[in-house]
Amino acid sequence: MFAAVLAAFAGQAMAEDVVVYSARAEQLVKPIIEAYKKETGVNVKLVSDKEGPLMERLRAEGRNSPADLLLTVDAGNLWQAANSGLLKPVKSPLLDANIPSYLRDPKNEWYGLSIRARTIFYNTQKVKPGQLSSYADLADPKWKGKLCLRTSKKVYNQSLVAMMLAEMGPVKTEKVVKGWVSNLATSEFPDDTKMLEAIAAGQCEVGIANTYYYGRLMEKSPKLPIGIFWADQAGKGTHVNVSGAGVVKYAKNEKGAVKFLEWLSSEKAQNMFADVNMEFPVNPKVKPDARVAAWGDFKHNYINVSNAGQRQAEAVKLMDRVGYK
Ligand code: FE
Repeated sequence: MFAAVLAAFAGQAMAEDVVVYSARAEQLVKPIIEAYKKETGVNVKLVSDKEGPLMERLRAEGRNSPADLLLTVDAGNLWQAANSGLLKPVKSPLLDANIPSYLRDPKNEWYGLSIRARTIFYNTQKVKPGQLSSYADLADPKWKGKLCLRTSKKVYNQSLVAMMLAEMGPVKTEKVVKGWVSNLATSEFPDDTKMLEAIAAGQCEVGIANTYYYGRLMEKSPKLPIGIFWADQAGKGTHVNVSGAGVVKYAKNEKGAVKFLEWLSSEKAQNMFADVNMEFPVNPKVKPDARVAAWGDFKHNYINVSNAGQRQAEAVKLMDRVGYK
C-alpha cells in the first residue's frame, strides 16, 4: 500500500498497474475503476484529457509512454488513433465473443464498449412520429426552416456522414447533406443538448442527436416536448456509434490492459459501464438500463463502425462543400 502511494507520487505505475489514457468523461470512468480494483485488486491509473491532447501525448511519448490503454468516444477517434499507429492489435477470443463484429475494429486494434445511437428527435407538439422516416427524409423541402443540427466540426456528425458515405455513396450523401443545410431553421449548434433544447423551445421541429444527451436532458426536465424517433427502420437501420478502447502500441502492461478490456466487455461490467451514461451495452447478453430500454427496441445499422474513420476526411470535405458549418 505504502509502496503504491510512493509510486503514484513519483508518477510511475507499479508493474501490475494498468495506465489508462481516457477521453471519456472522468466521472463516468472512476466508478468502473473502483469496481475493478475491488474485484481484482488491480490499480487502474487514470489520465483524463480530451482525445486530441491525449493522442498528441501518445505520439510524443512514443516508446516511453506509460499508457497501456486508450479509452475514448466515437469510432472516428478510435480509428484515428489506430491509423496514427498508436494502438496494437490484440488477440482475445473473449472480446470477440462479447463484442459484435460491427462494433469493433476489423484489425482488432480497438473495441466498442458502449453503444450510442445518433438518431432523430422531434417536437412532440409539432410533429407526429408518422411524419418521420429517415435521415435522408430530413433533406426533403417539407422540413424547410424546421431542422436543427449540431456543428459539422464535431466528430459525431463527421462519423454519421462518413457512415452514410459508406452506405449510399458520395452522390446521394451529398444531396442529402445539402438538403439538410437548406432546411436549417437556424445556424448550427455547438452541442447536442443546446440543439435538443431548441427543439423543445419550438425553434425547430426536428434534429439529430446522440441518445444519451436526450436521456440526460429528459432526466432533468421530464416534461420537455421532445420525442425520440428511430431513424431508417424501414431501411438499413439507425446509425450507432461506440465509446471504446484499444491497447497502446508500446504498452508496458499489455496483459493487464487486455484483462481490463475483457472485464469491461463482460456481463458483470457492461451495465456499470453503459448505464452511468445512459448508453446501450455492446454485449448482446446484457440488457440496457430500464430508462434506456423505455425508448423501445430498434434495428441498428450493422455497417462496421470503422467506416466512421475510414471516410472521415471525405465526410469533412463534403460537409464543407455544401456549407454545413
Ligand atoms: Fe458526447
